[in-house]
Amino acid sequence: MAHDYTTVIGLEIHVQLKTLSKMFCRCSNSGEDAPPNTTICPICVGHPGTLPVLNSAAVEYGIRTSLALHCEVPEVSKFDRKNYFYPDLPKGYQISQYDQPIGIGGYVDISPSRRIRIRRLHLEEDAAKLIHSNEKDISLVDFNRSSTPLMEIVTEPDLRSSAEAGVFLHELRLLVRHLDVSSADMEKGHLRCDANVSLEFDDHGIRVQTPISEIKNLNSFRSVERALGYESKRLYEEWMSGGDIKKRNYKITVGWNDAKGVTILQRWKEEAHDYRYFPEPDLPPTHTSQSTIDDARARLPELPQQKRLRFMEEYGLNASDVMIICEDNASAAFFEHAASELDEWIKSLSSSDAELSAKTYRLLASWYINKFSGLQADRITPENFGQLIALIAKNTINSTTAQELLQIMAHTGGDPAQIIKEQNLEQVSDTNILDTLCDAVIEKNPEPCENYRKGKTNAIMFLVGQVMKEMSGKAQPNIVREILEKKLSDKA
Ligand code: ADP
Ligand code: MG
Ligand code: ZN
Repeated sequence: MAHDYTTVIGLEIHVQLKTLSKMFCRCSNSGEDAPPNTTICPICVGHPGTLPVLNSAAVEYGIRTSLALHCEVPEVSKFDRKNYFYPDLPKGYQISQYDQPIGIGGYVDISPSRRIRIRRLHLEEDAAKLIHSNEKDISLVDFNRSSTPLMEIVTEPDLRSSAEAGVFLHELRLLVRHLDVSSADMEKGHLRCDANVSLEFDDHGIRVQTPISEIKNLNSFRSVERALGYESKRLYEEWMSGGDIKKRNYKITVGWNDAKGVTILQRWKEEAHDYRYFPEPDLPPTHTSQSTIDDARARLPELPQQKRLRFMEEYGLNASDVMIICEDNASAAFFEHAASELDEWIKSLSSSDAELSAKTYRLLASWYINKFSGLQADRITPENFGQLIALIAKNTINSTTAQELLQIMAHTGGDPAQIIKEQNLEQVSDTNILDTLCDAVIEKNPEPCENYRKGKTNAIMFLVGQVMKEMSGKAQPNIVREILEKKLSDKA
């Protein structure tokens, strides 16, 4: 069904920081792998009268991420209490940042032409984890997660489709992994997302902007896209059928039922929370000096988008190839390493030129994406992979042999030149040998030759195949074809 509306989406994303200790105490921050309620102390469990001490690594990670998102990092930020009652929050409040967050107003470019603005980045602590047991009709609470450091990143409503929201989230995950501030596994809840969606469209000549639905706690890329797709369609249908949506002017909060593929109303304005934020009295404001910011900026790694642009420029790759190659740090590093191996080979040639390099890099990219990625390739080093590509580029081996070789390399981890010698895989380009063979094949197959001469040019492929078979694949099919074509037209 074609939708005649614009989907407007803004995300609020929680990212768990991989600091060693928790946000305000010295407890280990790897409690998810420990038995329940073992990485806790009176501070993170929320005993009255305990005092929080701010984890400086969490602040550093927040600053690093803010800078990578092109946010301004103000000189002073502060923490506030967000008050609410819930069994996973025994303090009765969460320490968060309200009006003076650590990062303000940045952006992420999800493609050269799409910029998604970031409204803010703030730090806060996570709550404990409730485990509901249906069988025994009880709920359990594990405080290990209590007071784990989080960043919340809030976008402006700049996203225009559920697919685009997915792209943005992938980009953000890549970024925080790049920055080494979070492992960002959605399955483990290290990256969770609330998605706000509203629609804009023309209803009989009147520009309509629907109220917003906020979908809470989405924890997989798939559920983000499905939930947004479902909710935007639901909003439209509710509007068109003259539902309550036309009368209300406030946002609703919904949950996502992944099994049923539907959203469920959780609360609306009448019961919206009033958190009564006020400045956290037990923590002084956080001061960030200009030199701290300058330092952090200088130590930023190359960001994913910069890396892609550089790969396009340096290696002459296209946008979709660099998206795949720069999908994660390890993959991009592998490619670069293999490319530097090729550089050495290209430089060693007397006739090295820019066109040859570009062609070779494209060959590398195409083999990397199409042939290498599908393999169990832990044993193949980037040096060896680069050498393999050089062998193809030099015509030492043809692509069939190269694929065979790649399989052997994946099993043995060996060096391609060595394997070629051992297994006698080197391609035969000795024209005398090929000449004799082609003559023999022509002799033995008068019918296809006749067909070829009559204009059935495809018939030549059979003859090429025969020669290749005799050579056990160790010849260049296009060279064989040339020889055959020449012989057949000479004798015509
Ligand atoms: P609140 O103050 O209720 O938290 P905000 O205006 O601060 O609401 O926005 C919270 C989130 O809602 C942000 O991610 C923002 O991008 C998103 N948002 C704001 N306006 C819209 C809209 N018209 N449609 C969809 N999302 C929106
Ligand atoms: Mg919010
Ligand atoms: Zn603790």
